Amino acid sequence: MGIGQYNFSAGPAVLPKEVLTQARDEMLDWHGSGMSVMEMSHRGSEFMSIIQQAEADLRALMGIPSHYHVLFLQGGAWTQFAMVPMNLLRGRHTADYVYTGIWAEKAIEEASRYCEVKLAASGAAQGFHMIPPYSQWNLNPEAAYVHYTANETIGGVEFNWIPETGEVPLVVDMSSDILSKPVDVSRFGLIYAGAQKNIGPAGLTIVIVRDDLLAEPLPGTPTMMDYRTHATHGSMFNTPPTYAVYMAGLVFQHLKQTGGLQAAAERNRKKAGLLYAYIDGSGFYQNPVALDCRSLMNVPFTLRDPKLDELFLQGAEQRGLMQLKGHRLAGGMRASIYNAMPLAGVHALVDYMQDFIRLYA
Ligand SMILES: *Cc1c(COP(=O)(O)O)cnc(C)c1O
Repeated sequence: MGIGQYNFSAGPAVLPKEVLTQARDEMLDWHGSGMSVMEMSHRGSEFMSIIQQAEADLRALMGIPSHYHVLFLQGGAWTQFAMVPMNLLRGRHTADYVYTGIWAEKAIEEASRYCEVKLAASGAAQGFHMIPPYSQWNLNPEAAYVHYTANETIGGVEFNWIPETGEVPLVVDMSSDILSKPVDVSRFGLIYAGAQKNIGPAGLTIVIVRDDLLAEPLPGTPTMMDYRTHATHGSMFNTPPTYAVYMAGLVFQHLKQTGGLQAAAERNRKKAGLLYAYIDGSGFYQNPVALDCRSLMNVPFTLRDPKLDELFLQGAEQRGLMQLKGHRLAGGMRASIYNAMPLAGVHALVDYMQDFIRLYA
């Protein structure tokens, strides 16, 4: 981001300035190696130390127990929509999915190619503006796993609780809220996340999977889509996305230095609290999501008169408030305020929203 600008993009998204500065300083010569990280052999000792440190830091940040593998993969979260059923069905024929919005829908569509998908719960009747209460969920004890989407990046709906699924492994798409708050990893069978929302550059996908779930995948599963391939080779079966792993590692270190996930969660609550309180009190802007499941990461909002949308976006850019346009499927505006968005950025946005009302309402 340029000086004095704030980037509200939903992804690829804002990164900590300190991390970008360090990457700049190390660009041509990483730690006296005489090389850029981009130029290193992935099997050399320099890059091995980078990926091992990244894994150790992620384990420390999230408190990942030793009986979980951490995999650094490619293909985005979307590839996980297929890899999850291919690997976790383990002889079963059905899986439970929680339908909370557009990303859950994409996961469901892809899983339907491999198994019978049962909807354990759906927010469709409420326009996906709320998460169906757990008391109304219909969980199937025969399901191979239960899948849900921790944060619907487009709808702005986020779980602030972890579903209880008993013996059935719980699988979560955490692409847009991983590392935004502490989570109890031991509650999950598998966590996956594309890196480009809250971790680092695009091109890296993180999978955290419990050892006992690594099993024979569906017949015909490509080698690269078998979790065991990557688990047994320390994510080094083929060339991993080396530079993206390095950048993610810098973000992990930055998070550790700034107080870990507890401190990140406090900053995120403060930022989101400020923005939602302003929206709700404005009488001009509106967020449709139920109070108890509003996303702390992605805040969609509409203007009282959609004819003013273009004017709002133009004025925002003039003030250095970038990429506030809502998703094409949702319309309106969306402010993504991931870990790396400073509180000052949210203050600048609220100041602008106030000024806009004075001028145009
Ligand atoms: C962005 C996003 C995806 C898709 O990620 P890709 O890395 O583009 O495949 C999936 N799920 C959620 C929740 C997302 O935010």
